[in-house]
Amino acid sequence: MAELGPSPLASGNELPVDDARAAMLRVLRPVDGTETLPLEQALGRVLAVDVVSPIAVPAHDNSAMDGYALHGADLAADAPTALQAEATTVFAGAPYTGQVPRGGCVRIMTGAVMPAGLDTVVPIELCTVDGSRVTLKPGVLKAGENRRKRGEDLAEGGVALAAGRVLRPADLGLIASLGLPTATVRRRLKVALFSTGDELRNAGEPLGPGQIYDSNRYSLLGALQRLGVEVLDLGLVPDDPARLRATIDRAIAEADAVITSGGVSMGDADYTRDLLAARGEVAFWKVAMRPGRPFAFGPLLGEGGKTAFLFALPGNPVAALVTFYAFAREGLLVLAGARDVLPMRMAARSAVAIRKRPGRTEYQRAIVSRGGAGWEVRTTGAQGAGILRSMTEADALLVLRHDQGSVAAGDEVEVWLFDGLA
Ligand code: AMP
Ligand code: MG
Repeated sequence: MAELGPSPLASGNELPVDDARAAMLRVLRPVDGTETLPLEQALGRVLAVDVVSPIAVPAHDNSAMDGYALHGADLAADAPTALQAEATTVFAGAPYTGQVPRGGCVRIMTGAVMPAGLDTVVPIELCTVDGSRVTLKPGVLKAGENRRKRGEDLAEGGVALAAGRVLRPADLGLIASLGLPTATVRRRLKVALFSTGDELRNAGEPLGPGQIYDSNRYSLLGALQRLGVEVLDLGLVPDDPARLRATIDRAIAEADAVITSGGVSMGDADYTRDLLAARGEVAFWKVAMRPGRPFAFGPLLGEGGKTAFLFALPGNPVAALVTFYAFAREGLLVLAGARDVLPMRMAARSAVAIRKRPGRTEYQRAIVSRGGAGWEVRTTGAQGAGILRSMTEADALLVLRHDQGSVAAGDEVEVWLFDGLA
């Protein structure tokens, strides 16, 4: 694909992470197709259309406190204010139909509609109550306080949530607060996943000489499940062109995207590339990143014009997951129609010095903690691309940018958190 640019693997050039990302994002478009779901099933789904509020929220001016509703104009600036209370209490859901005269007030509970003409609520704890006489000290309250105004949360006809939003718990509550029981979301992305390598065996099976267990499929399955996509698990595929071709053809036919690990490093690239060249316009990149480097991306073309986007990750377990987070995660979210797709990031001070040369992006496994001088981050143990333990011990990636050089202890660095508030 011309848009993806040349495949620099052959030339030995390394492509900066940002250039590879930009090339990837240029060709990705959200999938078509929507469905309307009950709110109970919409968590984590991507809004397909704006949610427009059919009502003002709140629908009426109402009290933000338990207290007495009054005319703000009755508040005396430098003397106590004494008011005559109505012989009733206004509760939420039961608006008061009477008129409160000037100099009067009425007991009101939080959320109750403000009686006509009243604009201020004095909290109960600021009042001295003696029978029907309510007194408050000067200066404790300003006119208009403790009243929520109609439409202050949302105007009628206003956009409550924009298309592309990945729905969070509060979003579901917000949609429900508009009286809407459903949300129109993009159809769920379907992602095929398989591991490649003759040496791999499934957990639960005995290992032969030189064999290892397939861990990538489980790490990536978890990462995909968290993204909320439907996963088509195509298992383990040996380094056999016919098996690989058959698996890829099935993935193209059934899925929107294909995630593979292994088989794209220098030694394997030619044979994988020949195979993929026959199916699409995949670019093989050697990305200037550590861990990572080999990464192939592009559209695969199947029968009847059906396409699926390939994200071919390196085989080393840490490199596979880091490359997923650096590229595939964002790519899949864009395919799913999501708008805000950057990972959860923060800045923290590096607790340690880190040697680095400019010219590549580094993703170190790290732990974030609260130090004396604010948020600190330290790296976890050995950082080899195959040491998956470095990933499980970490709660974040410490990201050193392409142009960045060595970091001194105390320097600010970028951090990507593995977990947000669930
Ligand atoms: P490759 O990119 O296929 O050359 O693999 C690079 C390294 O990662 C090799 O040591 C592989 O054995 C290892 N590897 C590849 N795929 C997996 C996997 N699914 N699980 C664990 N290790 C893997
Ligand atoms: Mg391999």
